[in-house]
Amino acid sequence: MNCPTCGKKLAGTGKGPKSKTRPNRKFGGVLCHSCTERTIKLKTRLDEKTITKDDIEPKYQKYVQQVVINTTEKPKRQTKKKK
Ligand SMILES: [Zn+2]
Repeated sequence: MNCPTCGKKLAGTGKGPKSKTRPNRKFGGVLCHSCTERTIKLKTRLDEKTITKDDIEPKYQKYVQQVVINTTEKPKRQTKKKK
């Protein structure tokens, strides 16, 4: 199985023991790790209105829509300052 957004082969899908993989990981077995991270970042930026839906590549959009950022448990704001 390949990642639908970047085409990279997904590790841990198909055959093999799944005991080591965490099933609660977002998009586990659907998107590869980097695309999962990217999707979550896009969702975060979308929520912060840093970007609009038009800035998201169409292939990511449906996954971004599926991301639910769990902000109800920890209401603290994450203000990461990069650069
Ligand atoms: Zn990918």
